[in-house]
Amino acid sequence: MPPIQVQFRRFTSLNTTIRLRDGQISARLSDMLEGAPEKVLHAIAHILLAKLYKKEIDSRENLRYKRFASSTAVTREIERIRAARGNKRFVGPAGRYYHLEEVFDTLNSRFFGGLLGRPALTWSECLAKRSLGHYDAAHNTIVVSRVFDRPSSPRYAIEYLLYHEMLHLKHPVRMRGLRRSIHPPEFKAEEELFPQLKEALAFIRRL
Ligand SMILES: [Zn+2]
Repeated sequence: MPPIQVQFRRFTSLNTTIRLRDGQISARLSDMLEGAPEKVLHAIAHILLAKLYKKEIDSRENLRYKRFASSTAVTREIERIRAARGNKRFVGPAGRYYHLEEVFDTLNSRFFGGLLGRPALTWSECLAKRSLGHYDAAHNTIVVSRVFDRPSSPRYAIEYLLYHEMLHLKHPVRMRGLRRSIHPPEFKAEEELFPQLKEALAFIRRL
């Protein structure tokens, strides 16, 4: 059996592809399938391999996948993601002046002993001023507004913003009774450790 590599990618449909190249099978699935039940993933694997080797597809496996893909919950999720992602592409971490992965890695070793797993990092599509940055737990992605990607934006500003989002990675949202505690005291205490906190907040206020 050739080695198999499976990747979940950001697609706006349940797109799946498979190919055999240089003795290696690589399959690409929509990240919307990442949380699918094991039986459904098994059916997908069966269908893809049958297609690749031009074998007959077991009708039960086919039915199992079709049922899942056309279920209300799944079609609703596809619609939601399509609306959110549109046909826009994932902008990615490389900006014109700052590279988010480089900034993340620097902060990670400076403040977190390099222990935080790096999520997907991306600049926002537009020059958003309402949402300067946020951590999307569902897609494990930190989005940073493009307004920070210009020479007039000091490095400490983008560092502070990313630092804040990294603290969200470290301190997941907790329930305090019936309330969600987004910035609990230990979060705030750690935020105070950022050396240029005052300057960064002043810059953000001016924005
Ligand atoms: Zn926050």
